[in-house]
Amino acid sequence: GSHLADRLVLRGDEVVVVDSFVTGRRSNIRHLEDSPGFQLVKHDIVDGLPAMGAFDVVANLASPASPDGFASLSIEILDAGSSGNRNLLNYAVDCGARFLLASTSEVYGDALVHPQREDYCGNVDPAGPRGCYDEAKRFAEAMTAAYSRRKGVDARVARIFNTYGERMRSDDGRVLTNFVTQALDGRPITLYGDGSRTRSFCYVADEVAGLLAVLDGHIVGPVNVGSPEEVTIREVAELVRKLTGSTSSIVEVPLPAEREGDPQRRRPDITRIEDGLGWRPTTSLDAGLARMIESMRSSD
Ligand code: UDP
Repeated sequence: GSHLADRLVLRGDEVVVVDSFVTGRRSNIRHLEDSPGFQLVKHDIVDGLPAMGAFDVVANLASPASPDGFASLSIEILDAGSSGNRNLLNYAVDCGARFLLASTSEVYGDALVHPQREDYCGNVDPAGPRGCYDEAKRFAEAMTAAYSRRKGVDARVARIFNTYGERMRSDDGRVLTNFVTQALDGRPITLYGDGSRTRSFCYVADEVAGLLAVLDGHIVGPVNVGSPEEVTIREVAELVRKLTGSTSSIVEVPLPAEREGDPQRRRPDITRIEDGLGWRPTTSLDAGLARMIESMRSSD
């Protein structure tokens, strides 16, 4: 969200950021606080929205997203994806704004088709530990589609795949922040299971360019926004060790209970965004990770 705000401010837009700081940090936007036309409202979208004036665009990027928070923040996540999203949709209706929903690859769950195209309907266990996030985002998509059909909201839906880069919390719990922190501390790098699961990691600057392409573009249905560069988690551990110059060991630990249903393979089919909007990521995992490592080193 802070990276998107950066880009919008840079192109001359007036930006109001609404954040409850449940998982975000104010330090991520502090550099924007004196920018002309920038405003911060500390508020939870679940509690309705204060009057903030009329906007051309309402973008919903509000939700905890790390699987490590799925147990402790499950109800907050479901609220954000349901009533929180609806409050933002109503705000968009009131000012005739275009609406952007940041959805997720998690709508595909533990996908049975690979790579995942937008017309794949997913394999999600609503009662499993990941259900709170997956179903919240699926519900948010359904509500957004309903507002689009019934209330004429000009909506865009981006399905964000694993994204990484500067400004993540080092204790966020996701794989890249865990691995980099472990490698920099010289502690063992923890593979959950045997490290054969795969993910496709998109550098945040690319991801934000993709979100803007969706926001400004003409595609109304959901659009995958992610990197097609698929790697195993063991390869990621080895890459982190190489790029940090760490001597950490790489160890296999049992999959934590709250990660039951951890998707085996994930890679977006990006044909829709590539052909329709001319976007594809340009930063390799090596290059993006090197930048993330540098910023995590210097924030110590
Ligand atoms: N993972 C891991 N070790 C860690 C953290 C995560 O092996 O310390 C694995 C996790 O089991 C999953 C992948 O890395 O298969 C990506 O996890 P992450 O939490 O980053 O996001 P997810 O894609 O599961 O939402």
